[in-house]
Amino acid sequence: MTDELSSKMKNTFEDIKDVGNLICSYLDEEETYITDIPEEKPFILITDILTPSLVSFLVNSDVKGVVTELGGKTSHAVILSESLGVPVIVDTPDITDQVKTGDVVGMDGDCGKIVINPTKLRLKALKRLQKWHKRFYNRLHREAKKYAKTIDNVKINIWANIELISELNYIIDSGAEGIGLYRTEFIFLDNPDRSSDVEQQYDIYRSVVTEMSGRPVIFRMVDIGVDKVPYFSDGKAETWTEEANPALGYRGIRLINGHRNEIIIPQLKAILKASAYGHVKIMLPMVSLIEEVVEFIRLLEISMKNLGREAPSRRPSLGIMLETPSSILLIDKFAKYVDFFSIGTNDLTQYVLAVDRNNARVAYMWDHFHPAVLSLVKQALDYSKKIDIPIGICGEAAGDPFAAAIFIGFGANTLSLSPGRIAEMKHFIRQWDTEELKVLADEVLNFETAEQVRKFIKGKLKVGIL
Ligand code: PEP
Ligand code: MG
Repeated sequence: MTDELSSKMKNTFEDIKDVGNLICSYLDEEETYITDIPEEKPFILITDILTPSLVSFLVNSDVKGVVTELGGKTSHAVILSESLGVPVIVDTPDITDQVKTGDVVGMDGDCGKIVINPTKLRLKALKRLQKWHKRFYNRLHREAKKYAKTIDNVKINIWANIELISELNYIIDSGAEGIGLYRTEFIFLDNPDRSSDVEQQYDIYRSVVTEMSGRPVIFRMVDIGVDKVPYFSDGKAETWTEEANPALGYRGIRLINGHRNEIIIPQLKAILKASAYGHVKIMLPMVSLIEEVVEFIRLLEISMKNLGREAPSRRPSLGIMLETPSSILLIDKFAKYVDFFSIGTNDLTQYVLAVDRNNARVAYMWDHFHPAVLSLVKQALDYSKKIDIPIGICGEAAGDPFAAAIFIGFGANTLSLSPGRIAEMKHFIRQWDTEELKVLADEVLNFETAEQVRKFIKGKLKVGIL
């Protein structure tokens, strides 16, 4: 890295880093002052576990953050909460015993620290830092609508991941050039009857597509399994028998076997109808077999035919998530059937390292910096470049600037992330040079552990706040 670049990065990032570190260091201090908070004030939720339904219950409240005893950082509930701007700290043993209703709690979701009942003086300092932090991010947001180009003029496409229709209000303002991942399963959360109702889904999908006015929208087919049965109108016990291992069980595209008519076809028809209103792409989750894609294409063609005049004039592009090891190991075979790929680093990490992403007991193992995960990501990017098929990255790692820097160094040019992280990510990208990132990225594959990779990249990039 050139001296000029290093010092430029340092100046830019140190500001943010200082704020982050300062907050984290305040949070490190132990204090014992207790204050009652009246009910109508903003609050931090302390809970044993966060579920998507709990998040949807919190949507209209003034919750500022959540701390949980259990759960993993990339569980869907955490992703949903953070996309609504509510940070979550997971895996905090005994927190429900340590905090009582009315205690004052400060937290920093980025560094994962909390402080219980700070002194009045410390509370004042924390509030001042919070304001400073906010002002800094407001400045970043003002530049978010401009494209993200590296200093050597390489454009990185920045798209948004979305879970709830309410996020649409600020998706354009966030600076997103499209929706790279619409996690459609969340629309069934508050209304399971929608899962088999074409018209209700169509209304939602059409409004998303219309709102995006010509920008691409990737609808991911429902990605949910036996662990989330209440999501579906067909939540009857006889068709959704319990499984010991739902992450490896009946979920995602596998529903094509048991719930084709109840869930897959209605959703497919609703998306196809909506695609007449804009630029729609369809993506399949949890693909591990070629047969799943072949069967889906057959249903897609039948559905196009059955919709008649309601079908779009052209079949929307079809892509698959690369989130199982087999999908990347067989990427050349899958490429014959689909138009694009999107790497899902959350599940890819889960399946490559054989570590349940929702299980706090093994959360220490879950790490998207693991060289085995990075090596598969690189393999997918290299192959896609070779045959010139579009590929993006849409797991949470795409919103982590250190991981994103590695991906760009590997040659990635499309990232899809939580809208709340877009301004910051564009800001970082504008400080980077792809040739220099390439050198760093080549080096990370020589390491043996995730910790070594993280330490290396954090030492080189000087990106603050995380
Ligand atoms: C992923 O697995 O990385 C992903 C983007 O999908 P989800 O988090 O919804 O499983
Ligand atoms: Mg996934």
